[in-house]
Amino acid sequence: MSVVTKRSFCRFCHAGCAIDVDVDTVANAVLQVRGVQEDPMYEGYTCVKGRHLGFQHEHPGRLRQSMKKTANGHEPIDTNLAFDEIAERLAGILAKHGPRSVATYCGTAAYQNATGLPIAAAFHASIGSPSFYTSSSIDQPGKAVAPLRHGAWAAGVHAIDTADVAMVIGCNTLVSTFGYPGGLPGFNPLVRLRRAKEAGLSLIVIDPRFTEVAHYADLYLPVKPGEDTTLLSAFIREILEHDLHDKEFCAQYVNGLDELRIAVDPYTVDYASRRTGVDAGLIVEAARRFAAGPRGAVSTGTGPDMAPHSSLMEHLVLVMNTLCGRYNRAGEMVQNPGGLMTPPGPLRAQVIPPKPETLTKGPKTRIRNLHNQRGQAPTSTLAEEILLEGEGQVRALFTLGGNPVVAWPDQLTTVRALQNLDLHVLMDVHMSPSAQLADYVIASTLSLERPDVPTTIDRWFDQPYQHYTPAVLEMRGDIRQEWQVYTEVAARLGVTIKMAGGDITPGMAVTADDVLDLIYANSKLPLSELRKHVGGALFPEYVTTVQPAEEGANARLEMVPEGIAEEMAEVFAETTSASVIKGFDPAVHTFRMSTRRLKSVFNSSGREVEKLREREGTNFAHLNSADLAELGVKDGDIVEVASPKGAIKAVVKAADDVSRGTVSMAHAWGGLPDTPSDLGIVGSTTGALIDLESGYDAITGIPVMSAIPVAIRPAPVG
Ligand code: SF4
Repeated sequence: MSVVTKRSFCRFCHAGCAIDVDVDTVANAVLQVRGVQEDPMYEGYTCVKGRHLGFQHEHPGRLRQSMKKTANGHEPIDTNLAFDEIAERLAGILAKHGPRSVATYCGTAAYQNATGLPIAAAFHASIGSPSFYTSSSIDQPGKAVAPLRHGAWAAGVHAIDTADVAMVIGCNTLVSTFGYPGGLPGFNPLVRLRRAKEAGLSLIVIDPRFTEVAHYADLYLPVKPGEDTTLLSAFIREILEHDLHDKEFCAQYVNGLDELRIAVDPYTVDYASRRTGVDAGLIVEAARRFAAGPRGAVSTGTGPDMAPHSSLMEHLVLVMNTLCGRYNRAGEMVQNPGGLMTPPGPLRAQVIPPKPETLTKGPKTRIRNLHNQRGQAPTSTLAEEILLEGEGQVRALFTLGGNPVVAWPDQLTTVRALQNLDLHVLMDVHMSPSAQLADYVIASTLSLERPDVPTTIDRWFDQPYQHYTPAVLEMRGDIRQEWQVYTEVAARLGVTIKMAGGDITPGMAVTADDVLDLIYANSKLPLSELRKHVGGALFPEYVTTVQPAEEGANARLEMVPEGIAEEMAEVFAETTSASVIKGFDPAVHTFRMSTRRLKSVFNSSGREVEKLREREGTNFAHLNSADLAELGVKDGDIVEVASPKGAIKAVVKAADDVSRGTVSMAHAWGGLPDTPSDLGIVGSTTGALIDLESGYDAITGIPVMSAIPVAIRPAPVG
């Protein structure tokens, strides 16, 4: 055995931790993964998933050859032959039904793959298909659309390292390793949080669960699931009523302060307390503590972004930050100038104007009259776009880094849709529940088999940091990198894929590094420069001083753009956010299902690795023990969790960190419906509880995927 240590970064989740990988070069296999102490961003941090990368890569169920669905089930197929057949079938579909009939869905894993998702998007642009879907439209789409109504501050929000206060809503960074700019850092999160606290950070945590992050909170507000919009409205009212806002900033850069006062007026502290379950004194204290700052931001995670009124909720987050002027001003130093893989340009102390007209400019969906946002169609409509016959029906689907059967909302409709496709090409590393329905499963790479850069997190680093990794392992077997699926099919179709740095013409020989160069041709930090560094590095030459506004810049941030006052009035008219769901009965649906992140499994990734899955057990229904006693169930019992839309069974776990009336469950577990499986191992699919047609966000289309009203009862025997 010959062992070589190679430096790389983990791509199990988006956090991109620097790692050293001991590789048996004879067997081309991972022996051990550990953190890199000297890495300036991660300082040796890894989590259990990253340390199990070897088990993921060498999993006995790992696909090393592609599969084709036949009358006898899935059978191996030479991958090049699969490309020939796929291209032939796709050509027929394109000729008969046009480009819109061909869709791609990029799941969460696609965001940890710098070449796959951009090539998929470019392929769609090249064939003229608007049917490009990603997991971001069923995760936190409110974050992308809120600045289009409110506007944005070009120099960015205060970073955590200079913050006096941070208000974190529904984001458990210590488990999710997710932190949006202004929020807690997702890289080396515990050390960063402790350091921030030692430096005097006042942390306000708002969550229905006393999460791992909440243990470090100076103020913890146990909000009822789905009531963040009400709470934020009450904060804003309190700040305005007591003149605690940044009056100078608002006078210069803000429109609609009077309208905002009117819109929040009904949201008194007493009203918000009754509705959210948070003590009135805590609401006042949180609002005042945040307003006192003077530096620091409000940030959110998946929970509130999957709950009712998610676009409004994200708008109110921006309003809070604007109201208190939590933005970098002229002359201030900004460590990360909006990412190093983004195009260069000065950071200026000025407003990027709202562009509400763009919300309705994208191609229109045939379902629920939604529009594509930022080049992406809403994934919540894709199953119905497949099922609804007529002009524009989706007939062919490529799935990259995703597992629709357990991840898309409304599982039964999803499965029916996948079974209805003329062609489903799924790139995967094992025969997932979704792979079991696909026509072709292209055996694909895992992270250590690809060169890469962490691009999802590039803009979120709080330092000018980047990391290029070459492939650590050679590709073994008849597998392909995901970008190759598109270039190979495009070549056979005679399609040229247009990239920022040039074209990939049919038959052109390209490597993964060539593709990276074509995608990031305009990045501030040239890839040729980044490649000179072994491992992650800081690039202090990109630290930026915020420039004054351009001459004549006079755009303003809109506090109450069209639709906001109306939706706030709608929210006030509800007694609970659950009332947006058709069939909700307050006497029956007395619990709210709140989504939960896990340490050992990332959405559906990692469940196939026995050692990781065992650490979680299953996706338990976590309930407060007082609720368990009332229900007459105990740890390990099976309960039925029933929403107005559907019902699942789940294994109970007592968890007194969960507020009463809340059931906390991880999503993207389970398997194909009606397939006998062990609930205690495979878990259950919370997507089966989700209604596509009521309660969805009017802009993004995201259905209510957290804070779902449910009834809980002991499961019927049998
Ligand atoms: S936090 Fe994410 S990137 Fe870091 S080691 Fe864990 S799974 Fe890998």
